[in-house]
Amino acid sequence: MERTKYLLDEKRMPESWYNVAPDLPFELAPPIAPDTREPVGPEAFEAIFPKGIIEQEVATERFVEIPEEVREIYALWRPTPLFRARRLEKALDTPAHIYYKYEGVSPTGSHKPNTAVPQAYYNRVAGVERLTTETGAGQWGSSLAFACQAMGLECTVYMVRVSYGQKPYRRIMMETFGAEVFPSPTDRTGAGRAVLEESPDSPGSLGIAISEAVEDAVTSGAKYSLGSVLNHVLMHQTVIGEEALEQLEMAGEYPDVVVGCAGGGSNFGGVAFPFLRDNLTTDRNTRLIAVEPSSCPTLTKGRFTYDFGDAAGMTPMMKMYTLGHSFVPPGIHAGGLRYHGDSPILSALVNEGLVEARAYPQNATFAAGLEFAKAEGIIPAPEVTHAIKAVRDLAVEAREAGERKTILFNLCGHGYFDMAAYERYLAGDLKDLEHPEEEIERAIARIP
Ligand SMILES: *Cc1c(COP(=O)(O)O)cnc(C)c1O
Repeated sequence: MERTKYLLDEKRMPESWYNVAPDLPFELAPPIAPDTREPVGPEAFEAIFPKGIIEQEVATERFVEIPEEVREIYALWRPTPLFRARRLEKALDTPAHIYYKYEGVSPTGSHKPNTAVPQAYYNRVAGVERLTTETGAGQWGSSLAFACQAMGLECTVYMVRVSYGQKPYRRIMMETFGAEVFPSPTDRTGAGRAVLEESPDSPGSLGIAISEAVEDAVTSGAKYSLGSVLNHVLMHQTVIGEEALEQLEMAGEYPDVVVGCAGGGSNFGGVAFPFLRDNLTTDRNTRLIAVEPSSCPTLTKGRFTYDFGDAAGMTPMMKMYTLGHSFVPPGIHAGGLRYHGDSPILSALVNEGLVEARAYPQNATFAAGLEFAKAEGIIPAPEVTHAIKAVRDLAVEAREAGERKTILFNLCGHGYFDMAAYERYLAGDLKDLEHPEEEIERAIARIP
């Protein structure tokens, strides 16, 4: 049996992003100022984001039109294919139908350009000349580097030090697209210098790198760009789920379960929110499952409370699941999932029971990733193996229960720049690190 491929014609690329906010059956807690504890208005973000992005962050319309110029660049790789994983189904001997949306065909091999391109576009429209950002594994930095050159902007990237060492090819990719890249913590910013003073060997974290990139932007007149977490980012990613809805219709199917890995929640929100819309507005009742690493268990073990988005406490505070902004996750290979917080929308959905969350240790996820690679011929990014492990467990449950479930997951990036991680897994070198409860307590106690 072949893997079945569902392709959409270029003309069928979505014309709008889906904004889930107005459909939510609860009030989203607004961002607040740390000193006054009062809600901050959109103007709090003016120092770091252009007007077009701030408008989208607080948008109240359900559909937001995708600008023509953004659609033209999207057309380099969109619509992306949807595959039915027939060979994986066979390997698992499951009656479940497993589908995956493949975002690895993008210019940088992940879903990140879906938001990098519109963010660079709205900055250029606002007359901005340089963007700063942080990157973990390098997927976001390379995507913003690509988007900036497509829109004629300069790009500065603070790359989490542990990934800078582990993933030189991502750095070279950013430089190839014309960006400048620094290993974070650096001595270029006050935030970086403060961390280096306390721990000179710090492996860095997304939170620290965010502080550096924000500080660089606000002190130099550049703007800052975030690859996940915020409402506008999740909205840009909904092109994934909108296409998947149409492609599953071509296949004559509708999913019982939608699965995605979650670091800051953007690829998960992107694939899941169009299905959540059906849950909220029709009698559909699709299970939506976000999967994270046990070593950075934000949604499964964090607290749902106000915290900073960055390590230095420079951003407004957002209500979200958090492990505490001072928490530095261990240097696991799924670098994109090493973030102390999560999207406020996704966090609220988990808190309300509208989205499920689960966590797995990395050896189990790599085992599932290898099984997938052998069956389907695509090596998934280490982040994605978390989703694949959940899909595998669901498919095995379906076999044991004799149920014909339809499962969709987002294969949000390939792992061809992550071979060092696979090498270590194959050598039996990967450690499974649980995140100790006392450490969570300690980091939570440091939230003002
Ligand atoms: C960035 C990234 C993630 C984590 O970010 P989300 O916002 O949670 O999607 C996961 N997988 C890949 C391949 C990534 O590049």
